[in-house]
Parts: sequence; C-alpha cells; structure tokens
Amino acid sequence: MKIMPNRMDRGFFQYQKEFENKALDVLRSGWYVLGNEVSAFEEEFASYVGTKYCVGLASGLDALWIAFRLLNIGPGDEVLVQGNTYIASVMGITINNATPIFIEPDEHFGMDPEKIEHAITDKTKAILVTHLYGMASRMDEIVKICKKHNLKLVEDCAQSHGACYNGKMTGSFGDIGCFSFYPSKNLGAFGDGGAITTNNPELNKAFRTFRNYGSQKRYYNEVVGANSRLDELQAGLLRIRLKHLDELTEEKCKIAERYNKEIKNPLIKLPKVADGASCVWHQYVITCEERDRLIDYLDSKEIGTIIHYPVPPHLQECYKYLGHKVGDFPITEYLAKTVLSIPMYNGMTEEEQNIVIKAINEFK
Ligand SMILES: *Cc1c(COP(=O)(O)O)cnc(C)c1O
Repeated sequence: MKIMPNRMDRGFFQYQKEFENKALDVLRSGWYVLGNEVSAFEEEFASYVGTKYCVGLASGLDALWIAFRLLNIGPGDEVLVQGNTYIASVMGITINNATPIFIEPDEHFGMDPEKIEHAITDKTKAILVTHLYGMASRMDEIVKICKKHNLKLVEDCAQSHGACYNGKMTGSFGDIGCFSFYPSKNLGAFGDGGAITTNNPELNKAFRTFRNYGSQKRYYNEVVGANSRLDELQAGLLRIRLKHLDELTEEKCKIAERYNKEIKNPLIKLPKVADGASCVWHQYVITCEERDRLIDYLDSKEIGTIIHYPVPPHLQECYKYLGHKVGDFPITEYLAKTVLSIPMYNGMTEEEQNIVIKAINEFK
C-alpha cells in the first residue's frame, strides 16, 4: 500500500468514539450555528493560545481578510509578508485592495527580521508573519520592529497550532492571530473552520459583529459584514481534537526527531528550527536540488510527497497585476523549486517511518 503524504482518517480513528458521540450529541441538540459548542471552543482555544479572546469563523482565509478589514487596512496601504507563504495569506491582504510587499524568508522558512526594516515605507501599515510548516518565526525581533515603526502585527497561524517562540504561543504575539481548522491542519476539523485570537476587546467585539452580517442584535445591522461562522458540529469536534492536541503534537515531534536523526543523505537538506522556536511539524519539509527526480524515485517506492508550494504568490496568475517577474525573489523561487514535504501525520506507523527513512537514504 502506498504511503500517503498525509492521512486524515488516522487522526479520526485515534479518537473515533469521542468524535462519534459528540457528533450525535450536536445533531440531536437541534442547535447548529453559534451556540454552546462554539462558545466553549472559543473559551478553551483562547486559554490554550494564551489570549483573552478567540472568535470562531468559517475559514482561515476569512480570519485573514477580516483581520485586515477590521484593522482598516485597504487601498494604498502596504503589508509586509513572506514571499514563500501560502497564497491565502496574500489573498487576506489583497481582498482588501491593500498591497503585499514580499520579504524573502530566512533559513527557517520564516519571516526574516533582518529584511523587514529596508522594506518599510510610509505606506507600510502592518506585518503578516506566517509560521510556515509549524515553525514559529523569530517573534521577539519582529515584535520590536512593529513597536518601533508603529505597525500592526498579524500572525498567520494556520500551520502552527501549539508552536511557541521562547515559550509564548504563536497567535498571542500580534494584534490578531489567524487560525485555520481545515482538516489537514494540526488542529483539524471535519470540514472548513477558522478563528482569530486577540487580546483587544474592541477587535473581539468587531469580529463577533462582522462574522454575523455586521449584526449584534438580530435584524439590526451596524456594518456590512460577512457570513463567517464556525458551526456547532465543527466546534464540538474541534473541542475533542484540542483536548488531545498536545499528545498529537508530541507524536508528530517524535516522528520528526527520527527523521532528523536517521535521514542521512548528502543530496538532502533537513529543516532547521530557529533558536528559541518550537515546531509542531505541520509538514516535514526537506530541500533537494534534484527534487523532481527525488519525487519520481519516492513515487516508484510507493511513497507519496507534496510540494508546499510549487509556484510562489508573486508569480501566480492572479497576481500578475502586481508586476513581479521571475528572478525578483531568488530565495523564494529557489525554495519553490527545491522544497518537498515527506509523509508526516498522526497515526503514522513505525514501519511506515522506516520505509520512508530507508528510501530517502538510498536515493542517489
Ligand atoms: C490553510 C492555510 C490558510 C487558509 O486556511 P483555510 O481555512 O483553508 O481558508 C491560510 N494560511 C496558511 C499558511 C495556510 O496553511
């Protein structure tokens, strides 16, 4: 049987009875949108991240674009963002007609604090940091720069549930932390879902109003909002996953430790977590100059892999209007050509790990 890069069914079977009981409870309750499960999840997740508030939303992309909308970032404003992030981070900016300014990542795939200050202009309003692949970016320096230049700080934590920098959780450093609960994420639902975290009571209230057609009181609308609500079923199931998140992360860390120790191949570079950062291994991403040959080789050994991501945002069709061309961001473009995510998922058996390690070590 082929080893897949990710196996979401395994995560379900680990806690099958709990998930099934909760699903039936919610279905039988007769209350499906914005109820007790959502409120309880919001409280539990805020407490997990270490922020005062969490607001459940319909997706990670919604968390991002609504975040910039509520920070009043729009036409004429610039937001600094890593060149190698997932497209949704950038869409969160451009949906508001603000301009993304791409920053080349550091050697940990993260936002590079050394490259931020050169890019700041008088149009710069915010920095968006993506804790890519589960690795926390170097937040101490980034927070300092934001304070010094009076910039808003938004964190894209869609891949970093539970990852810390110097012991502080990602999603608690900035004005707003944006989370996705898409099924493949470390804290995954069984459909779409998202949330924001914040310590700011006004933003907490603004998100609650915005997600529900801009209404606090039914049929009275203060602003033009969105329909972006986490539903009761997903919230209930997420509460179960959240309860087990630390052990799920621990399991992924054990797999990563084996990969770190046992993969030894001069053609392959292993991921490097920054000093002070922790990684929750949303993906285990290696780099290889002969990446495409490696993919075919692993495929011939029945091992599936994925490229996160083959085309960087600045070269995407949808961002042609920004006017970037090949060669503008060489580090980002090099990563797009060389990164490869190898199998990493909860419920991965020791035997599956052995097969992956052995095959990679035998690649010539
Ligand atoms: C998944 C993801 C998103 C988008 O989340 P959705 O819930 O799929 O909308 C945003 N940013 C990053 C880095 C992601 O990995």
